[in-house]
Amino acid sequence: MKPVEGIFPLLNRNRTTVITTHQKPDADAMGASLALRHLLVQLGHTVTVISPTNWALWVDWMPGCKEVLNYEADKAKADKILDNAEWLFCLDFNALNRTKTMTDKLKQLHCIKILIDHHKEPDTGAFDYGISDPSKSSTCEMIYDLIIGSGYSDKINKEISECIYAGVVGDTGSFRFPSAQPAVHRLVADLKSKGLDHSKIHEALYDNFLENRLRFIGHVLLNRMEVFYEYNTVLISVPKSDLLYYEIKTGDTEGLVNFPQSIRGIKLVAIVIDRDEERKWSFRSKGDFDCNAFARKYFEGGGHFAAAGGRSSDPLDVTVKKFLKAMKENKSQLQ
Ligand code: 5GP
Ligand code: MN
Repeated sequence: MKPVEGIFPLLNRNRTTVITTHQKPDADAMGASLALRHLLVQLGHTVTVISPTNWALWVDWMPGCKEVLNYEADKAKADKILDNAEWLFCLDFNALNRTKTMTDKLKQLHCIKILIDHHKEPDTGAFDYGISDPSKSSTCEMIYDLIIGSGYSDKINKEISECIYAGVVGDTGSFRFPSAQPAVHRLVADLKSKGLDHSKIHEALYDNFLENRLRFIGHVLLNRMEVFYEYNTVLISVPKSDLLYYEIKTGDTEGLVNFPQSIRGIKLVAIVIDRDEERKWSFRSKGDFDCNAFARKYFEGGGHFAAAGGRSSDPLDVTVKKFLKAMKENKSQLQ
């Protein structure tokens, strides 16, 4: 993988470009994809953003989101666009299998593939150009860096500002994680000086749910949460029946993993959601517990040191048992 700067001199040439990101895109994934799209359109590219799957309502407000293609829902059309792509940007993931049913298609493409991502252990062999920097708060911060670094700061408009800010807020936990370094606050100051209405973005991200989701959270915290004080660990396991009863949609479970972190002394929070196609794990840690390593070792996943995810094809009770065994194996790191 050659440095991403290699594409800077070519950015202002018309290209047929596809931008994609990981399945179930969150604010950072969708924000980065749309911010880059708004830049490249201004530079003369023909751009399509393709998401591997559907996405949550709390990213659907982002400028340009209505034109994003959902690969699962629109496969034939998306395949045709991918076949004609000259450039493919891969944002906020670092191994092609994070695109689920798009994986095989992306592997077959012969176009130039460009990675922009902040997760650990990238599959650099899969990309022609790129940048992988786990010290960055978010892929949105990296898109901002790309815009500044390539000399196009004058192209930062309202749409780009809103998309970038949303991703930075999402991935820094509203500026609370250690990744919210001075450069992140300078980025915000720059966007604010360009007219960004930041309160509007917080409302769109966090005050944009239905009543049932709040009732669901209450139920889950009361009835589905177990605290293992000996291991400083909290486990939440959500059976499919809860998702059906509370009519839970994509994105409604986002953020649930953060609640148990408010319990004093907790080092690891794990949550598993019994989705149709798989059991989806999320992990969050404080201190020196490495969620990325844990997710990779036990749950076919990965991510960051303090926030990672994984999956299992096992039934819920089986994958929960596996977690409990893994927790016990990691007792010394959890104390
Ligand atoms: P979340 O728990 O919010 O879904 O994800 C936390 C972090 O881990 C995110 O940066 C996300 O991209 C990453 N992540 C989530 N699930 C997976 C997975 O199955 N594999 C890998 N490699 N990363 C994941
Ligand atoms: Mn991200």
